[in-house]
Amino acid sequence: MSENMEHIHCLIIGSGPAGYTAAIYAARADLHPVIYEGLQPGGQLTTTTEVENFPGYPEGIMGPEMMEDLKKQAARFGTDIRFGIVTEVDLSKRPFTVKADDGKTMQADTVIIATGATAKYLGLESEERFMGAGVSACATCDGFFYRGKDVAVVGGGDTAAEEASYLSKLCRKVHLIHRRDELRASKAMQHKVMNTPNIEVLWNHETKEVLGQTQVTGALLKNNKTGEDKTIQIDGFFAAIGHKPNTDIFENQLKMDETGYLITKPGTTKTNIKGVFACGDVQDKYYRQAITAAGSGCMSAIEAEKFLSTGEWE
Ligand code: FAD
Ligand code: NAP
Repeated sequence: MSENMEHIHCLIIGSGPAGYTAAIYAARADLHPVIYEGLQPGGQLTTTTEVENFPGYPEGIMGPEMMEDLKKQAARFGTDIRFGIVTEVDLSKRPFTVKADDGKTMQADTVIIATGATAKYLGLESEERFMGAGVSACATCDGFFYRGKDVAVVGGGDTAAEEASYLSKLCRKVHLIHRRDELRASKAMQHKVMNTPNIEVLWNHETKEVLGQTQVTGALLKNNKTGEDKTIQIDGFFAAIGHKPNTDIFENQLKMDETGYLITKPGTTKTNIKGVFACGDVQDKYYRQAITAAGSGCMSAIEAEKFLSTGEWE
């Protein structure tokens, strides 16, 4: 190892609820963690308004404010928080070599990956305009705000079917907008959707625009079979066309499933490489919640501490 190279006990990549929680635990365990915040300091919650389901905030809290609190808590115990993106990792031998876009090359005894996942959106300008205020990619997070109202879900896979089904219990009507004439979702989920009276599937429809001035009032759709336009009245628009885990830099080094999510040993956050842990949405395509991300961040730090002090892995 070069004498000038920085040596880090615990390097955390990503500053969402998973990364900051890992930092709080690692710092309190004297691991002197360094965290790289990435392009989106604070993670996905900085793109939303109110968070009502994170325990400890009885009146709810704005997403960016909550993430600022987590950051302060991590800093309070001495976490070295760096604004930068990790661009390259070599996990083939310990200590691991990590490069960041601030020009630093580091050697890390343990790496905690908390790089999250990114919801896919349609890419419409009108969708962007109402992001976090009428447009969402998370029914569990935002469905509550549309109780008794009409909403649309776009997509035809299991996520869309689940989101539509969840929203059907809260909302008056759910329009499920799908670009083809059959759902990609599993047979069981298709059955559920087709047998829920307040879900209407709009087959062969594509979204041209989310409508509204100061809030969402509708969506302009196009039937791709007939070419006809149609307007629906809605208060909320949910994109459910999939997520992309942020794992490109770990390709060919860590075990991933076919969609790029990191695979961890059940009941732990251990990856297939000793000393490398993964927590939060980057390894979880099912729950995708701030509290579960934070919980697994805590697990990563405890496991890293144990590994550093005992060398134990199994
Ligand atoms: P993320 O929050 O995705 O953070 C990932 C972090 O990794 C980011 O800081 C990013 O900059 C960093 N990163 C990525 N690549 C690199 C790299 N190469 N180098 C360095 N850093 C990197 N959940 C709830 O529980 N309640 C809600 O009300 C709620 N509302 C939501 C509203 C919206 C609009 C969205 C999109 C999500 C919402 N969620 C909600 C889900 C919740 O935000 C996620 O489950 C949670 O943020 C996942 O945390 P995470 O730490 O795994 O990753
Ligand atoms: P997915 O299976 O890839 O489905 C994405 C859906 O969005 C497809 O129907 C696709 O249409 C549509 N879509 C993609 N891009 C679009 C665009 N630009 N415009 C309009 N529509 C678009 O993704 P997913 O539903 O998130 O599921 C991902 C994986 O997780 C799957 O393996 C799924 O089974 C699994 N999952 C399982 C559960 C469960 O078991 N409970 C729940 C959620 C997810 P086309 O069909 O035309 O391609």
